[in-house]
Amino acid sequence: MTAPAAKLDCAPYARGLFIGGQWQSGRGIPVVNPSDESILAEVPDATVSEALAAVEAAARAAEGWRSTPPRQRAEILRRCHELMTARAEELATLISLENGKALPDARGEVAYAAEFFRWNSEEAVRIGGEYRTAPAGTNRILVEHQPIGIAVLITPWNFPAAMATRKIAPALAAGCTVILKPASETPLTAYALAGIYAEAGVPAGVVNVITTTQPGPVTAAMLADPRVRKLSFTGSTPVGRVLLAEAAKTVASCSMELGGNAPFIVFDDADLEAALDGAMVAKMRNAGEACTAANRFIVQAGIHDAFVAGLVRRMGAIKLGPGTDAATGCGPMITRKSVEKIDGLVADAVARGARVQLGGVRPAGKGFYYPPTVLTGVSPQSEMRRAEIFGPVAPVYRFDTEDQAVAMANDTEHGLAAYVYTRDLKRGLAVSGRIEAGMVGLNRGLVSDPAAPFGGVKQSGLGREGGMHGILEYLEAKYIATSF
Ligand code: NAD
Repeated sequence: MTAPAAKLDCAPYARGLFIGGQWQSGRGIPVVNPSDESILAEVPDATVSEALAAVEAAARAAEGWRSTPPRQRAEILRRCHELMTARAEELATLISLENGKALPDARGEVAYAAEFFRWNSEEAVRIGGEYRTAPAGTNRILVEHQPIGIAVLITPWNFPAAMATRKIAPALAAGCTVILKPASETPLTAYALAGIYAEAGVPAGVVNVITTTQPGPVTAAMLADPRVRKLSFTGSTPVGRVLLAEAAKTVASCSMELGGNAPFIVFDDADLEAALDGAMVAKMRNAGEACTAANRFIVQAGIHDAFVAGLVRRMGAIKLGPGTDAATGCGPMITRKSVEKIDGLVADAVARGARVQLGGVRPAGKGFYYPPTVLTGVSPQSEMRRAEIFGPVAPVYRFDTEDQAVAMANDTEHGLAAYVYTRDLKRGLAVSGRIEAGMVGLNRGLVSDPAAPFGGVKQSGLGREGGMHGILEYLEAKYIATSF
């Protein structure tokens, strides 16, 4: 493997917990570079009392922020977008170092993450209401949208910037104050962004950031405070279930962005090259570590072999290496545990009869690498049919009829993203309508867009982030009945 091309000293980003606009130094959580297993920095391990101090800081800042005029809030959000954009290369390098993703993916993430600030700066001044005459004619119905209150935000490691800004930007636009708990694997980006928010003029206590190795007790303690009225979580479905139960104790409002098991359906009449272009984005963006990643390629019999040959050719051309190396197309996985999980899923599929068309063998040496891999003949009983692979492994399944494709696509507890490739728009729209998913890419391998509602059905989640829906998760309707 070649030496990393982009370099950055990570120590300045590990200034401490960010509470009430102050940095509280501490140590306890080493941040590992997944490319070579070196330690990049060490961030504090917050206790329950430090988490409660963050809630206190958010409570102190709440009244001032909710009464800040929307235009002023919008200008501050806009500055967050500008500062993130100005520092895009620094942030992309930081993401690439702590997460491992290839630099082009990291640059794409920074642009996507910053856009949530621009989009929500535009939403902040358009929070609407209603004014109607009651059907009986006896009174008027007034409805206004008020900030829901303090929000606890919990994010995963796979998009350290975007998963945070997708929550923080609408929360701030709505007038809420927040406590962000990022994943311990990738805390540096969250702290780097906290510095940017302060520089952009976000007042002390409006955004607080804490890292901890005890997310269970720390989150439970924050949710037990009756002033916390919102939990927005992005992560796995099992942890989402635990947090829903925890939030039930105080009936806190929940937004849940959970796991996926995306089908990628290719019909015989699809444009093969376009389908392969889309497949590479849907599978290989972030080295497969995305909730929207194509997890099951479901390909019609007539195009199956040509699709597999094209996929093997394209996936085989991707260079595996450190994310910061300019030539890298596929970086390492986040942890050794992740690589071992992927390796186990491939071994299970092979033991049940799958054929390895590409990859399938872990490289020796330092770093958490798994190579781009293509499997055919994967048995429906294989674990990877139901599990999120979360890596650069593409299992291809074969189908004959449209009904079969839809049944296979829907045979999962998840319902986040799905992809459909066909030249027949009528069929494409019909199949998109029948698939149980919150988002469908029709002849497109990328669905994420800050201007569109992102989210899942079934056990992939509750609520939407982005678009005009995102800000509503942080607002509550207040109805006033009046006789005049
Ligand atoms: P995870 O559920 O293990 O962790 C997510 C976050 O929850 C982390 O910050 C973690 O520290 C925290 N956490 C873990 N246990 C907790 C507990 N008991 N109480 C409170 N917090 C707890 O998920 P992950 O491995 O970091 O991320 C990968 C998962 O996230 C995948 O399932 C992926 O599909 C999902 N994801 C979903 C979306 C989406 O928008 N739907 C986006 C990105 C990732």
